[in-house]
Amino acid sequence: MKFHRETDGRLVVSLTRGEPVRARLEQLALEQGLVAAQVSAIGALDEPVLGCWDLEQKIYHKKVLPGVWELLSLQGNLSLLDGKPFLHAHVLLSGSDYQALGGHFFEARVGVVLELFVLPYPTSLPRRFCPELGLPRWEPGGN
Ligand code: ZN
Repeated sequence: MKFHRETDGRLVVSLTRGEPVRARLEQLALEQGLVAAQVSAIGALDEPVLGCWDLEQKIYHKKVLPGVWELLSLQGNLSLLDGKPFLHAHVLLSGSDYQALGGHFFEARVGVVLELFVLPYPTSLPRRFCPELGLPRWEPGGN
């Protein structure tokens, strides 16, 4: 992982083939002291694990996509869950048939490169478990 932090705090991040995406971003947030940030990226992912939330069962249905996929877009955020950096992101991918598919992002390794912008937000956005939804969700202003 290579990154550059501008004087205003914005980060440009480059990950290379084989690096674990979630672990690297959460590690970066921890080391840089980010309490919240917007994350966007393009590149390629290897064996991405995607999810779709089942509101009735309150579980994620997970799917592993074998092989390397073009990452058309990753949009997400970093916030704090139990006091630790947590990445919540969704991805749009395409394969050799150029068809797009996507979902909630669990994990992947970088397939070729991953180019990210990380825009820190100064106010902490802690996540707290919501029994109704079955998920930890943002509570802006709920420090
Ligand atoms: Zn999600």
